[in-house]
Amino acid sequence: MLGTGLLKGLAVTAKNFVGSYTTPERMVTVEYPEQAPPLGENYRSFPFLVSETADDPMGTLRCVACQICEKECPPQCIYIVKSKDKKPDAAGKQQFYPAIFDIDTSVCMSCGICAEVCPFDSIKMDKVFEVAAVNRFEGLLLDREQLAKSNAYYNAIRPAEAAEVDERLAAERKAAEEKAKAAAAAAAAKAAAAKAAPVPGSASPATTPATASATTPPKSPAAPVAGLADPGQPTTEVKPAPAPSAAAPQPPTAS
Ligand code: SF4
Ligand code: SF4
Repeated sequence: MLGTGLLKGLAVTAKNFVGSYTTPERMVTVEYPEQAPPLGENYRSFPFLVSETADDPMGTLRCVACQICEKECPPQCIYIVKSKDKKPDAAGKQQFYPAIFDIDTSVCMSCGICAEVCPFDSIKMDKVFEVAAVNRFEGLLLDREQLAKSNAYYNAIRPAEAAEVDERLAAERKAAEEKAKAAAAAAAAKAAAAKAAPVPGSASPATTPATASATTPPKSPAAPVAGLADPGQPTTEVKPAPAPSAAAPQPPTAS
């Protein structure tokens, strides 16, 4: 019948209108900005940099300034300058850090590629969408101090994802610590073995004589060089024995 669909639609609208006064689930709108709409786990706005602690965000940034996100960002709105020096990261390993890390959020398209490609879980997508500013340039160009947010904040806005990241990083750090301990123990054992081993070519201390002269027989006096006489000794002339001669007298033979 003509108009049946229209009447059914009006019935649904009336049912929800009346029901919204008694049933909260039928409230499909909120009084923004007094009330904030609930955001899903995967909602994303703009990137932020994760720091281990809120007390020292610049000193505990996870970012090592590898610049992968800068290269991969489609609209090229990330600008990074790597530090000249290194400092220890959360695992105690010496790492570079970003001396400058800027994101132009007036250009960012919230694609999340920077967060996907980061191998250090240093950059994540935020949920803050109220970012209006009176100045299009300075107001929307965020530096590292503005971008840094603590890992506790990350856990608060994305609990499931952050828990998985924390677990993985803890396992990696534990493995790195165990590897470092094993390497240190091996180096100590090698040094101890090298210290205990005798030096090649030398006798052991128990058998080494106190001085070389104690056991070494005295050297015989040097043989006189022919033609040079020792002034302290009488000279004796040694004559060679006469060789037997064929002309020597022979005993008489019996005839
Ligand atoms: S979210 Fe996308 S556009 Fe924005 S900074 Fe990251 S990679 Fe670039
Ligand atoms: S945020 Fe990640 S990908 Fe980007 S420079 Fe830092 S460590 Fe590299």
